Amino acid sequence: MDAALSPGFSQAPLPRETDVAIIGGGIVGAATALALAHRGLRVLLCEKGTVGAEQSGRNWGFIRTVGRARAELPLALASRPLWQAAAARAAFGYRECGYVSLAANPAEMARQEDWLQRMADFAMDARPVAARSLAALLPGLRGNWAGATYSPLDACAEPAAATRAFAARAAAAGAEIREGCAVRGLDLIGGRIGGIVTEAGRVACAGVVLAAGAWSRRFAFNAGLSLPQLQVLGSVCRVEGARDLPDAIVSAAGFSFRRRQDGSHTLAQRGTSVTDIVPDTLRLFTAFLPAFRRQWRHLRLRLGRRFLEEARMPRRFAADRASPFETVRILDPAPVADILATALANARAAFAGFGPARIVESWAGMIDATPDELPILGPHAGLPGLFIATGFSAHGFGIGPAAGHLMADLLSGAHPIVDPAPFRLERFARFAPRPAPETRA
Ligand SMILES: Cc1cc2nc3c(=O)[nH]c(=O)nc-3n(C[C@H](O)[C@H](O)[C@H](O)COP(=O)(O)OP(=O)(O)OC[C@H]3O[C@@H](n4cnc5c(N)ncnc54)[C@H](O)[C@@H]3O)c2cc1C
Repeated sequence: MDAALSPGFSQAPLPRETDVAIIGGGIVGAATALALAHRGLRVLLCEKGTVGAEQSGRNWGFIRTVGRARAELPLALASRPLWQAAAARAAFGYRECGYVSLAANPAEMARQEDWLQRMADFAMDARPVAARSLAALLPGLRGNWAGATYSPLDACAEPAAATRAFAARAAAAGAEIREGCAVRGLDLIGGRIGGIVTEAGRVACAGVVLAAGAWSRRFAFNAGLSLPQLQVLGSVCRVEGARDLPDAIVSAAGFSFRRRQDGSHTLAQRGTSVTDIVPDTLRLFTAFLPAFRRQWRHLRLRLGRRFLEEARMPRRFAADRASPFETVRILDPAPVADILATALANARAAFAGFGPARIVESWAGMIDATPDELPILGPHAGLPGLFIATGFSAHGFGIGPAAGHLMADLLSGAHPIVDPAPFRLERFARFAPRPAPETRA
């Protein structure tokens, strides 16, 4: 994983009151805190473990526009200047190294060209690369490829260091960042947000941003709200000893890799993930059925001990007792070794430079997926004062800065950086908000 962490955050007692409380110190919570602090609002970000220790510190570190859904592309493009501004102030391995998506066959190349055409109205640098030009773009590439899509400006960064840099900047701008501080629940007054209840006490506030990644559904359920979100396991490894590889991020059906700041490589298998069957899989089965159908080639369903672990984890919990967020400070699932071994074999087949490489570290992250693979961003219509920023479906690192900016726009009533309409919770009819049940007088 990404070891270059910045120093810890304040240990001071919690404030009694703030303007906005953010639940979750991933890239989305950190970017939201930064954007709100820049507007002069009082912000408290509570992270149950350490900042950037879950998805935001475990991902591949790709910051890409290529292949993004039409609704999401504006967030990816709007994030680019925010990444550049952040990288000008802190070193977290940000490099505009370019991103190459290889097409294994003419059908895949046709899909990539179709994507380029459909996105032609965006000011993008992504372009098609003919098969005959691949050798110049990717020295050392072998095998028969049908072409590629290439964005020279797509970038990479070291995930945990980048997330902590955003949080450190937010702290420097006045945001209070607290690690080891789980938020157990919401305090509702007269049917709207009146505060949060943390393990260290209550904090009064009129606005809350739920940016709790894979935990958002459990947190929301305890507040009487339902979010369509399932957890998907993504496995990653770090390899040493590879040589003469391209500088760009390379992604293909059976492997994806990038060079890391320390010269080793992050490697994984694109699109191959494991979904453990848990009680939520059954509860949300109909909502996710179209996604299962779309992804069945890449999805590995697994029934094992996680079913019982999840079934035993409380869904309702009182604010005066330790919550599941304190039981699991950092979600650290085991990676799937054979997926990573296959990724390395596939990468070796494509690049001789992977010949001497060996896996020296591996880890996994729990992806927060929605049925349409787009995040849920915006106010919760059933609970005034609550804002949701979750369900990034494995795209949230790259688009996190603009997503945080958008949340700050929505909270402060500013003109939104991108159109928020595609991200409303209401797009899922079954989950359209109803008023929250429990309120204080
Ligand atoms: C293996 C893998 C590879 C990926 N690769 C890429 C990639 O290359 N590019 C890309 O753009 N995206 C990628 N992603 C997706 C990306 O990492 C996520 O979408 C993004 O990090 C989500 O950020 P977040 O802040 O929403 O959530 P997280 O980073 O998961 O942060 C949520 C935080 O909330 C905290 N929390 C939860 N509940 C509470 C509570 N009650 N109280 C206090 N704190 C709480 C958690 O401890 C956690 O730190 C990948 C994801 C994985 C797992």
